[in-house]
Amino acid sequence: PSSTMRSAPSSSSVLGNTNGERAVQRLKGYFGLAKDEIDKAVRADEQGKFSEALQHYRNADRILSEGISAHATVESSRLAEEARHWKDKMAKWQVKVVERLQVLESRSQAEKPITAKRTTAGSGAPRHVGSFRSAQPVQVAKKPPQRHHSMSSNVRAEQRIGVQSPQLASTAALAVNGVDPKLVSTIENEIVDRSPAVKWEDIAGLAKAKQALLEMVILPSVRSDIFQGLRKPARGLLLYGPPGNGKTMLAKAVASESAATFFSISASTLTSKWVGEGEKLMKALFAVATARQPSVIFIDEIDSIMSSRSENEHEASRRLKTEFLVQFDGVLSNDDDRVIVMGATNRPEELDTAVRRRLVKRIYVPLPDADARRALLRNLLKGEDYSLQGAELERLVQDTDGYSGSDLHALCQEAAMVPIRELGGRVNTIKRNEVRQLRYSDFKIALNDIRPSVSRDQLQKFEQWNQQFGSI
Ligand code: ATP
Ligand code: MG
Repeated sequence: PSSTMRSAPSSSSVLGNTNGERAVQRLKGYFGLAKDEIDKAVRADEQGKFSEALQHYRNADRILSEGISAHATVESSRLAEEARHWKDKMAKWQVKVVERLQVLESRSQAEKPITAKRTTAGSGAPRHVGSFRSAQPVQVAKKPPQRHHSMSSNVRAEQRIGVQSPQLASTAALAVNGVDPKLVSTIENEIVDRSPAVKWEDIAGLAKAKQALLEMVILPSVRSDIFQGLRKPARGLLLYGPPGNGKTMLAKAVASESAATFFSISASTLTSKWVGEGEKLMKALFAVATARQPSVIFIDEIDSIMSSRSENEHEASRRLKTEFLVQFDGVLSNDDDRVIVMGATNRPEELDTAVRRRLVKRIYVPLPDADARRALLRNLLKGEDYSLQGAELERLVQDTDGYSGSDLHALCQEAAMVPIRELGGRVNTIKRNEVRQLRYSDFKIALNDIRPSVSRDQLQKFEQWNQQFGSI
């Protein structure tokens, strides 16, 4: 019973026709609300605003409890599956939210011993107080009693809609067989990407790449019942193309749109933090991903860990690559596993051939075409004070042929500085609303300074590689 709850999905936003459809829409609504709260919490947490983070985590916890125990009567097994999916996902998130809450609460308890009530109900042992990221995992078994209470009501709710949720049935589901629990919690804390930051609509153009990702990752994660047999998606996927055109962005959008657990590692995670441990981590990563399926393992800048250059290659990186191949083959050989490996690179030609062969779907992320540049420019200029006549925007779209997404970004930033530079010393005194509008001539000036970062030569190489190895 909280005010947050009342703002939960109202009947006007419920679009389904049948009771079951409405129930599923409602669950999605709860999910969305919780996602927003978690997003805010994580941001506050990263900025060191712990009490704010605590507040948002608590809100999220409440919303999730409400969502998980929401009554859902459904008419068909398809809807039951969908409802179960959303409830499962919320349950998964709640486990994580509660973990964070406990860490933060035990910390604020350490600072102000009297105010925190929640954790005092748990085990008597003092909890480790550490930084948010490196905090000791809090055992699920040590959850405060009210959590057990709400969990059991969740189970009842699940029974009402007649489906069993493995997540709720066993809170010990966090452990992964045969993997060092410390490693598991490290993976859960640092590699599972739960920053729902990029939305599908934020990405301009790239219709083909989006469609491929939708069919291969997002839909199968939600509708495994349909994507079977011939429709079973490929399990290795590579995004490649010139730098600054949305590969990383696409992956982030997949993370927030798909129902899969999203593991995101980059070369730097594996090499700097895990010197000598990369191999062990890789093995653990696949084990955790298999236990948490459907899941996606995303390796950004995959060329730098899986490159084919064998001369003076470090022994450690060779072992890491081998471990990756062994693990990936393990996943591929088990027909029931729903683990997808997704890589991104702007140097596809340097990718190890054995790795390339396993990433069977190769999706080209090209420079933006005219339509995409128009959309990108519109997006960048949104909220700015500018005057571009229709024809001028079109000219700009033509002028920027060959510019990448990030080049366009730099171009607009540069253009925005032109009116400021004109002011000279007056910039100190001028009122904000007196800065003149941006106009086409400013962009013309910026076009001289900001040149396309991808050369024709490079582009040709990408297109060649695409011809030879690409799948769409
Ligand atoms: P790299 O190969 O260098 O890693 P990348 O392809 O991963 O590059 P991103 O990091 O995804 O590129 O994009 C860089 C920035 O450019 C983004 O943060 C975004 O601001 C902008 N951008 C690029 N492409 C798009 C796009 N299609 N839609 C919206 N923004 C884009
Ligand atoms: Mg990138």
